[in-house]
Amino acid sequence: MPALTDSYGRVHRDLRISVTDRCNYRCTYCMPADGLDWLPREDLLSFEEIERVARVCVEHHGIDSIRLTGGEPTVRHGLPELVARLARLGVDIALTTNGSRLSALARPLAEAGLRRINISCDSLHDGRFAAMTRRDDLPNVLAGIAAALEAGLHPVKLNVVLRRSVNDDEALAFAEFGRATGVTVRFIEFMPLDADGGWTSAEVVPGSEIVAAIAAVHPVEPVRRGHEPAARWRYLDGRGEIGVIDSVTEPFCASCDRIRLTADGRLRSCLFATDEVDLRPTLRGGGDDEAIAGIVAATVAAKGPGHQIGQVAFVRPHRSMSQIGG
Ligand code: SAM
Ligand code: SF4
Repeated sequence: MPALTDSYGRVHRDLRISVTDRCNYRCTYCMPADGLDWLPREDLLSFEEIERVARVCVEHHGIDSIRLTGGEPTVRHGLPELVARLARLGVDIALTTNGSRLSALARPLAEAGLRRINISCDSLHDGRFAAMTRRDDLPNVLAGIAAALEAGLHPVKLNVVLRRSVNDDEALAFAEFGRATGVTVRFIEFMPLDADGGWTSAEVVPGSEIVAAIAAVHPVEPVRRGHEPAARWRYLDGRGEIGVIDSVTEPFCASCDRIRLTADGRLRSCLFATDEVDLRPTLRGGGDDEAIAGIVAATVAAKGPGHQIGQVAFVRPHRSMSQIGG
């Protein structure tokens, strides 16, 4: 089986699938205050179509890791059924969620074959959480984190986006939450994929600053970096680790191994791609598996060297994070 390689020699093994563009939150850094127009139902890929694209990527291209995302994936009806279908492909299945529905869903998802989960949470203060997500829901998310741990999902990771003067005083509190609960906290730098187009570099809290603030209280040492986007640090006292996805200040494009499928069936070779390829005409027009595999290979082959955030040449993609899937 030929590896899914781009013109820079990067082999792609990780498929990220957005299962919906809908969301029950409107996080300030991801969605506009009055929300976005949802895709018409018929534009969404069906479970059969998602499963087919995933199977072709696994069988023809050696994809060995699939992450479901959104919008908010848990608002898609029947998500455990989709997880069960994908688990039958025999690859690693993970989920990124805001955690709001996990109290009810963590166990069915685990029973369907989900192994790993990332739960997004940007503040441990009720009022600030409500302001950031535009929904007063922190207790529910904390209950969702507990339900994920109880259901045996492992690892449970917490995705935290710190923004300057918004929640940058919470790095240590999140680290201590992780140390107390066994959850691995990963800090993600704020990226120019906000729906309002208001991103400025002044709002980015560099990963190095976050690690320094935590290490001053709980000393850490670096963990050797593999293909994963997170730079990892382990506590010297053995109480777990933290990760930093410093995609703005330390781009990891040179080792990126991801491709993305949007909820409406478009393939994207990069989070910041300004072009995408619509798979629906092939999926719905009688195209065979070879045709799908060919489109995937061509999309990856055409992948650029990486994003150019902070440079004159940077062009912001027309989709925001909730429409691509983080
Ligand atoms: N709704 C789910 C959630 O919140 O986890 C999945 C989709 S969300 C788009 C995936 C991840 O993207 C979340 O961890 C979120 O914090 C992150 N995210 C959204 N907008 C972002 C931005 N502008 N910069 C950095 N991360 C962002
Ligand atoms: Fe929804 Fe996730 Fe975006 Fe928040 S970050 S608005 S939960 S998609």
